[in-house]
Amino acid sequence: MYDIIVIGGGPAGLAAAVEAKKEGVDNILILERDRELGGILNQCIHNGFGLHTFKEQLTGPEYAGRYIDMAMDLKIPYKLNTMVLDLERKDDDTKIVHAINEEDGYMALEAKAVILTMGCRERTAGAIGIPGFRPAGVFTAGTAQRFINMEGYMTGKEVVILGSGDIGLIMARRMTLEGAHVKCVAEIMPYSNGLTRNIVQCLNDFDIPLKLSHTITFIHGKDRVEAVDITQVDEHLKPIPGTTETVPCDTLLLSVGLIPENEISRGAGVEIDRRTQGPSISELCETNLPGVFAAGNVVHVHDLVDFVSQEAALAGKGAARYVKGHLEEDINFTTVNGDGIGNVVPEKITVANLDDSVNCYMRVRAVSTDTVINCYIGDEKIATKKAQKFVPAEMVNFKIKKSVLEKYGDGELKFVVEPKEA
Ligand SMILES: Cc1cc2nc3c(=O)[nH]c(=O)nc-3n(C[C@H](O)[C@H](O)[C@H](O)COP(=O)(O)OP(=O)(O)OC[C@H]3O[C@@H](n4cnc5c(N)ncnc54)[C@H](O)[C@@H]3O)c2cc1C
Repeated sequence: MYDIIVIGGGPAGLAAAVEAKKEGVDNILILERDRELGGILNQCIHNGFGLHTFKEQLTGPEYAGRYIDMAMDLKIPYKLNTMVLDLERKDDDTKIVHAINEEDGYMALEAKAVILTMGCRERTAGAIGIPGFRPAGVFTAGTAQRFINMEGYMTGKEVVILGSGDIGLIMARRMTLEGAHVKCVAEIMPYSNGLTRNIVQCLNDFDIPLKLSHTITFIHGKDRVEAVDITQVDEHLKPIPGTTETVPCDTLLLSVGLIPENEISRGAGVEIDRRTQGPSISELCETNLPGVFAAGNVVHVHDLVDFVSQEAALAGKGAARYVKGHLEEDINFTTVNGDGIGNVVPEKITVANLDDSVNCYMRVRAVSTDTVINCYIGDEKIATKKAQKFVPAEMVNFKIKKSVLEKYGDGELKFVVEPKEA
């Protein structure tokens, strides 16, 4: 029986395994379905990773490489090309991980604790239902990124991108650098869903127009994309008649959202937060199932891998404590999304497990300036997060001190976007 099995060998899985090993747990196994460790970072060859963790601008493979080296130095075993199919819990609380690969065939691996780090996947054309045929030339931005950066295939020459999430913005620059003509990026919302630095470095620096409050209403072409109709939308996101422009192109890239990959979690009975679409977790990333932990993009979609590594290290620490029987399970606080807040992670907090504070990660619902995020217990304001601007694309990291929580004992932590006080 393994002490800990980690499902997914991306940055979250690697950081969790490294931390668990540092906490003194030896018998760990990482299972990764891909042909190498590193997860989505292997295809992100641009720089901008690791500013918080390593105080350096690394490329995705370099950042992943640092964690792979740590895992190798600690001699943490792993199996590649291994697909986890299912997770089961026995009555005595043993976990059984059902997995398969070419070498070992089908395996039912037993573990005391499991860490879920399966990342997320992209929303596809089917999910957003654009009218027209289904010609070649429609890709999710991440698939195009993998084709170009890892497999060596150029996906098109005349490109329109729908969605201004980070992957869409990064692919606008990448396709331009590879010689394609990116005609525009259309975004249905009145603001971009990407990091500001990506708008500047990936669109503005290359004069690629960003059409806010616009969406694609038709894909022309039967065998290959020939053009797309781009239409302005109103405040209810409905297309405005008479505003359609037909833009000739041979490729449409979709960057229309990421969905945490939780089929295995759901099958095992893990409680899913309907706002994040990921498991509800505690301060040490434990799900509602004792001994089952989750971290990284499988919990909520992160924009910075540094936060993924931080969160996953907590999962590693939590799993190690669980294996040693040192994890406190009594929940003292739950977190609540007040006005203006889209989601908050963690959803529950056991104060005794905290070192000196808890990091609450959250996303706001709309762009605002002249606002703060306040945290309340009952009617009492216990902490305030300030920023020049809050945007849904940038996850807010709000630290609450353990000593403050100890003062109140238990209750609800409610986060609310409010005007700055004069
Ligand atoms: C295009 C793009 C650009 C980005 N740019 C930046 C940036 O500039 N700076 C930055 O800091 N962050 C950036 N990020 C974010 C960062 O890369 C991610 O947040 C981070 O990689 C998520 O790590 P993860 O381990 O949770 O998920 P992933 O990296 O997706 O890893 C999950 C792993 O689990 C494996 N897996 C899934 N299911 C199974 C299964 N059933 N069995 C076995 N294995 C399984 C997958 O194969 C994968 O290797 C970017 C992300 C993308 C997609």
